[in-house]
Amino acid sequence: MVAMRGVQKWFGELHVLRDIDFEVAPGEVVVVIGPSGSGKSTLCRTINRLETIDEGTIEVDGKKLPAEGKQLAELRADVGMVFQSFNLFAHKTVLENVTLGPIKVRGVKKADAEKRAHELLERVGVEAQAGKLPAQLSGGQQQRVAIARALAMDPKVMLFDEPTSALDPEMIKEVLDTMIDLAKGGMTMIVVTHEMGFARTAADRVVFMSDGRIVEENTPEEFFTNPQSDRAKDFLGKIL
Ligand code: ATP
Ligand code: MG
Repeated sequence: MVAMRGVQKWFGELHVLRDIDFEVAPGEVVVVIGPSGSGKSTLCRTINRLETIDEGTIEVDGKKLPAEGKQLAELRADVGMVFQSFNLFAHKTVLENVTLGPIKVRGVKKADAEKRAHELLERVGVEAQAGKLPAQLSGGQQQRVAIARALAMDPKVMLFDEPTSALDPEMIKEVLDTMIDLAKGGMTMIVVTHEMGFARTAADRVVFMSDGRIVEENTPEEFFTNPQSDRAKDFLGKIL
């Protein structure tokens, strides 16, 4: 579903992605972990072309990433992204936040977009908030709206970049539970998170990054109990 081959990226002098070969199969859930600054967010952002790459190729659903234009908008619609900060449109209601993309980008009729939005809001447990503005919701509710908004575009893959790290502890579980449901439903997911509970419950594979490289990949069970590289051992020693 996603294939990165020989990807290199620099920010000026900083070689931020080094020779990345990374594939994600349809329906697979991959957790990406690693120290701060190791390139996890940059990796995610290159997949929907929020960042360009300097060398290599990235394919989503068998299509090479276009540089610009209408194809790029379509590609972005295929790749749902949920960030640490919820990035909802502040002056639009929850319902409008979820219907805007399908209406504008996918050309869905308003009534159809609203019907689907209500279903998705129900699925993530915030249907009662549909008429409110984002600021009237808790952080956990806003993040679930952000997930519903991404799902409304019928993405082929969902990227999550530390979706729970800005949340109060009591709200983390509701967001993780939503993500676990999504994973069980067969969604292809790439999730940057340090939530080991999520990784153990939902991930098919853990990818460990350090200094712009994928240093190690394994099943969660193997990775957490038997990390191979010194860098992974050192990292796990600090967070577990
Ligand atoms: P964290 O766990 O802190 O979120 P990360 O693994 O997501 O870290 P990235 O955000 O991908 O790391 O950053 C990788 C490196 O690239 C860091 O050294 C960062 O300072 C640098 N970097 C990120 N974005 C830019 C940018 N737009 N311009 C220049 N340098 C950048
Ligand atoms: Mg990051």
